[in-house]
Amino acid sequence: MTTSINTIKLGIVNCYLIHSDDSFVLIDTGYAYQRELLEKALIEYGCTPGQLKLIVLTHGDADHVGNAAYLRDLYNTKVGIHKLDSLMIETGDDSKSRKTKPDHLSLLFKVIRKLDLLSKQSKMEPFKADLYLEEGQNLVEYGLEANIVYVPGHTNGSIGILTKDGDFFCGDLIYNLPGFGYIDDSVKHQESIERIKQLHPRMIYPGHGKAFQLRSLKR
Ligand SMILES: [Zn+2]
Repeated sequence: MTTSINTIKLGIVNCYLIHSDDSFVLIDTGYAYQRELLEKALIEYGCTPGQLKLIVLTHGDADHVGNAAYLRDLYNTKVGIHKLDSLMIETGDDSKSRKTKPDHLSLLFKVIRKLDLLSKQSKMEPFKADLYLEEGQNLVEYGLEANIVYVPGHTNGSIGILTKDGDFFCGDLIYNLPGFGYIDDSVKHQESIERIKQLHPRMIYPGHGKAFQLRSLKR
């Protein structure tokens, strides 16, 4: 099975379309207002209904789940998320899988929050997932040789995806954009980082910013 990773950049959000043989798995879906861009990219990469086997949501934030329900209906496919983040998408309330106050919020995020800059962009229609994804689960039945890794810290139900080639999709556990920082639970977050180090991924693909290698993770 040969696998290729296509990064779909929707503004500052990354979605990843993984192509193996004649099937595709999409990781995250961007904000709802970026819908046209995402649809265009799927067509450009030759992803047709029937070939898109699964949409994986790394966590329940609006910048990752905004087009999931729409694409599911359009492509007649399935959406998977970790059970602990399911209430976020069912209610559209991003506090559902978090503490009342995050352990760490970067200055930029504090400003964004205070000015309420995201409220319009982050509007999303509540929806239900088709399946729950959990630690160790294999995606082979969806045409991808990869496993789910449970990496809480940014939200309680954050997951990553590790392919058999050693590529790791970490969602928002690690940001690779200057000024970005949101850690809900710093103990869980640190445990998740240690977990990733032990997995020795060859490349890490974040939800925001460029892909990077493990050794560039700060100790
Ligand atoms: Zn995000």
